[in-house]
Amino acid sequence: MRDLYVKTPQALEALLAELRRVGYEIKDLRKDEFRADRGVPVSEMEEKGWSLWYASLPDIRHGKCKSCGSVISVAGVRFHGHKCEICGEVTYYDLVDGSTMKFVFLNNRERNFLSPKLKMRVKRWDVEQEDIYFYYEFLEGGLSVVTGNQATAYLNENKRLWQVIEEDGQKLLKVRYSLYWDRDTAAIEAYDSYGHYWNHSIVKIWDGKEYGELDHLPIPESMNIFETWHWSPLQATPYLHERILSAAGQVSDKGYYYQDGRSFFMASEWKEMAKFVRHFTVLNGDRFDDAWPKFRSSGPGGIDDLAHFCHGNPVVENRPNIGNILVAASKLIEGKPLTESEITEAVRGVESEEGVDLIRGFLGKKR
Ligand SMILES: [Zn+2]
Repeated sequence: MRDLYVKTPQALEALLAELRRVGYEIKDLRKDEFRADRGVPVSEMEEKGWSLWYASLPDIRHGKCKSCGSVISVAGVRFHGHKCEICGEVTYYDLVDGSTMKFVFLNNRERNFLSPKLKMRVKRWDVEQEDIYFYYEFLEGGLSVVTGNQATAYLNENKRLWQVIEEDGQKLLKVRYSLYWDRDTAAIEAYDSYGHYWNHSIVKIWDGKEYGELDHLPIPESMNIFETWHWSPLQATPYLHERILSAAGQVSDKGYYYQDGRSFFMASEWKEMAKFVRHFTVLNGDRFDDAWPKFRSSGPGGIDDLAHFCHGNPVVENRPNIGNILVAASKLIEGKPLTESEITEAVRGVESEEGVDLIRGFLGKKR
């Protein structure tokens, strides 16, 4: 999965030299602050098979001004009112006439995801005076966004935080809102906003060629590098399947997956796991190649089959998952049948601590 596994110190030396030649910046993770902060000894990183080197292509992201077409610095390019360093045109406005914003008043009252929010259309944002002006109209915005009388009541609860003014015969709501938002002094907190003004794009430039922001370069932008001689070959333990799944970027907890038998694992993922099995475990790679095409493709089924291939008596994680409550609830609402396993997992989810919190949240009750 784009990670590199190196089998000998000699190979590592050759690899790092080659990566540097291509232009990668290499970080020695033995010296990383992340490790030091947690007090993890280097020997533990080695034995547990942590990534020990991180290779990435530096400085490939740039801005591109739509007014003059120049490639410009990416720093600040998406900041309200930022200007192109070549032609001086504004590259981005976060809020302009017609943008919408969902927000709450910061009134020191406790909030949860169901607390009232307002969604309003922006007239203008005066960044010098640090005020924002909304058209006095409450927009629909889904769960927890209040309109009509509820919106008026919400405004009245927060009277000291806004003003209604009239401008060209139009009623506007004026609220303090700074470009440099600070929770301690701000009147509102924005949840999201739409309708930005874009006058730039983000591009990636590699080897003299320009790519779109989401395009893949011909080589990976970053890679983890593992030194396998500290831990390989892995023995056939009851937990070996977890290691194989995680190397292929997969979750090994059965509770994480859909419980209705739908397909999850694809051939490409089994093939990645097969490479890992062949090179870094004591298991027989040929036997695994024969076995995986017969594994179940559902999340829980596939994990069970893999785990049993690895060990005669595996320990497979299956934690309650609140996601399973939501899946079951929405199927019930739509009048769809539930499988036995979906019912079991939903009930386990409801009984878990997270599930109890979720349901209390819906009912608006505290613990
Ligand atoms: Zn420009």
